[in-house]
Amino acid sequence: MFETLSDRLGGVFDRLRGRGALSESDVRAAMREVRIALLEADVALPVVRDFVDKVTEQAVGAQVLRSVTPGQQVVKIVHDALVEMLGAEASELALDVTPPAIMMLVGLQGSGKTTTTAKLAKRLSERDRKKVLMASLDVNRPAAQQQLATLGEQVKVATLPIVQGQPPVEIARRALNAAKLQGFDVLMLDTAGRLHVDQALMDEMKAVADVAKPQEILLVVDSLTGQDAVNVAQSFSAQVPLTGVILTRMDGDARGGAALSMRAVTQKPIKFAGTGEKMDGLEAFHPQRVAGRILG
Ligand code: GDP
Repeated sequence: MFETLSDRLGGVFDRLRGRGALSESDVRAAMREVRIALLEADVALPVVRDFVDKVTEQAVGAQVLRSVTPGQQVVKIVHDALVEMLGAEASELALDVTPPAIMMLVGLQGSGKTTTTAKLAKRLSERDRKKVLMASLDVNRPAAQQQLATLGEQVKVATLPIVQGQPPVEIARRALNAAKLQGFDVLMLDTAGRLHVDQALMDEMKAVADVAKPQEILLVVDSLTGQDAVNVAQSFSAQVPLTGVILTRMDGDARGGAALSMRAVTQKPIKFAGTGEKMDGLEAFHPQRVAGRILG
């Protein structure tokens, strides 16, 4: 995760730290390298521009350059700006409601939605001791409902019994009733995805959201698609009130452009990161920790 960016920035900062005194032009030269490193990591251009301008402005301040350890101070400024870019605070899920708390997972086909639904259900059931029910509303892909049922058995989380031929909104209603009657704390709805953002997908998602009234609408996107992931998030966000983003395949993402641009471009917090195919490959997204990881 973030290896390429981390290596590039590490080189720039080692050079900065290695010098006793820093001039304004030293800082500007370092920031030019930071800019290139962020662009190579596939961070959105306006986000890179804002970041570099802000850091440069703070770093060329007289107090920083005159301090005993100017290199270290500049690195600290970059760290803090990275944390802010990633969203500052870790975002919690809205679980503190009259049960069942309803979470809807949306996204394109292949983004990792079904896997993530099961991973998150496992986490809520094991760490938060919640009684979780999962339901697949994906009637487009014949095996999707069975896939979730199989994962449910694996992570020991209940799934709604499959009734063939029911449309998504009906499944959502049935899931809601079952969750209420059977005293579940959390209901997770895994919605259908499509290959591209299209109106049919959006209409179905909105119809389900109208019925289920979820506390959380979480968009699952593949971090490996870089700026496309950010564009997908913008399209979804324009149609439904997303409460957060889950970035999958972060385990294979050496660049990190989606993670770094998501918050600034979409204003939506990244709540979790998928870090592997296994059912425990899901981490809460902590901007502080992620910035620490990037800066080594
Ligand atoms: P869906 O079509 O959006 O429901 O996607 P799936 O949940 O079926 O996932 C598609 C593939 O991506 C599967 O092979 C998953 O194992 C894999 N996958 C999902 N999340 C991750 C992740 O965080 N890391 C890795 N390496 N693979 C993942």
